[in-house]
Amino acid sequence: MSVAVCLFTSDLRLHDNPALHAAVRAADEVVPLFVSDDAIARIGFAPPNRRAFLADCLAALDEALRARGGRLVVRTGEPVREAVRVAARAGADEVHVAAGVSAYAQHRETRLRAALAADGRRLTVHDAAVTALAPGEVTPQGRDHFAVFTPYFRRWRAAPLRTPLPAPRRVPVPAGLRSAAPPARAAVSGTSPGLARGGEQEGRRRFAAWLRAGVSAYADRHDDLPGDATSRLSPHLHFGTLSAAELVHRARAAGGAGADAFVRQLAWRDFHHQVLAARPDAAHADYRPHGDRWRTDAAGTAAWRDGRTGYPIVDAAMRQLAHEGWMHNRGRLLAASFLTKTLYVDWRVGAAHFLDLLVDGDIANNQLNWQWVAGTGTDSRPNRVLNPLTQAKRYDPEGAYVRRWVPELAEVAGAKAHRPWMLPAGERERLGYPERVVELEEGLDRFLRARGKR
Ligand SMILES: Cc1cc2nc3c(=O)[nH]c(=O)nc-3n(C[C@H](O)[C@H](O)[C@H](O)COP(=O)(O)OP(=O)(O)OC[C@H]3O[C@@H](n4cnc5c(N)ncnc54)[C@H](O)[C@@H]3O)c2cc1C
Repeated sequence: MSVAVCLFTSDLRLHDNPALHAAVRAADEVVPLFVSDDAIARIGFAPPNRRAFLADCLAALDEALRARGGRLVVRTGEPVREAVRVAARAGADEVHVAAGVSAYAQHRETRLRAALAADGRRLTVHDAAVTALAPGEVTPQGRDHFAVFTPYFRRWRAAPLRTPLPAPRRVPVPAGLRSAAPPARAAVSGTSPGLARGGEQEGRRRFAAWLRAGVSAYADRHDDLPGDATSRLSPHLHFGTLSAAELVHRARAAGGAGADAFVRQLAWRDFHHQVLAARPDAAHADYRPHGDRWRTDAAGTAAWRDGRTGYPIVDAAMRQLAHEGWMHNRGRLLAASFLTKTLYVDWRVGAAHFLDLLVDGDIANNQLNWQWVAGTGTDSRPNRVLNPLTQAKRYDPEGAYVRRWVPELAEVAGAKAHRPWMLPAGERERLGYPERVVELEEGLDRFLRARGKR
């Protein structure tokens, strides 16, 4: 009787899961293993929102495996040690895992390969399991990754995509393996009140609804802040309850300008992953340094975190983050530009705060988007500064997004909600809305001088 282990990491699904599919095909029995990694919690990468969402994902995975005659085996501890132990205990000769892109995942993979080999077992790593196209699958001449999105996208779009795999019909699991209880969502405290639900079934339901009723308008409405007309699939992509390759296939099959625009965003995700896979230190070091000597601004940073900068559109976005553990992409751009350019505070400060709250908080997407906005990343216009007032006028013309998230301004009609300092004397104070932490022109001048542009 042959046995294989499928070690789940960022691929918590049964559909289109290359590691699981290969394990089921290769062996008579499979151990579907998840190791709750102590170190991830210790380094602070498991804040409540993501722990709660993960608990949903593991419960859903266990349920789906049980419906196929199996179950999820959960262990707690150091993943390499636990995976080797489980493989030995089950008599498995092979462990299957999805390739990861962060330094942590790459290091884990190297150690796991060595530890299994020392025990006479094999590690098989599945490349295009987390992204649609594996990092390194398309590269520019003479380089290991693309540093600019447009040429990457040209090649990405033309590259063949693997065909999505069906969910296995049966997953026979060896008897007698000890498993910890999967963490329960209810046991996680300190989550955002409006946090979304996780799990593969929920992800598939959302994606089906998106294809039916959302994607066709995406090209026109993805920047409509109050319209909230994006897919909200990012946490499912982060935890791998949805497969990026399957999403691309099915969106392409749906066709139309909306689907094209949606697929392009999925290519952005792949783009950032291939940058991080090639340059893992971009998670903390400037990808393209500009010699920035960032300011320390405790009061400004605290106001930014609390959604009390005095700029309603920025504050609305930050409060959406606190309430939902998620923020609209336009809000993320505005909030990040405000911190890194208007306040000229280090992007790492903002990225860390986002990672504390975002349910989709992801090293590749978060750190590299922050770097993109800060101008230390892959943006070809590193010194652009988003003006929150012109952006608000464009993407929240009636002030509805501001009124939704900033209750102090709920009774201010129309676009006036974007400029509370222009309300009649004393009105802003009466409403309890804070004063501006900085004048935009002052922030702009400071930033451009720092970058040698003034
Ligand atoms: C400062 C900043 C921080 C960010 N941090 C994260 C993060 O931690 N995790 C994360 O998944 N995304 C992050 N993003 C990218 C983007 O904002 C989110 O992916 C998106 O808002 C999620 O909403 P959605 O699923 O409705 O996206 P949709 O607009 O429906 O897009 C579909 C999918 O495409 C991908 N995508 C969309 N935009 C981007 C982008 N700019 N870069 C990479 N992938 C993208 C996401 O996986 C998303 O789910 C960040 C963006 C900025 C500006």
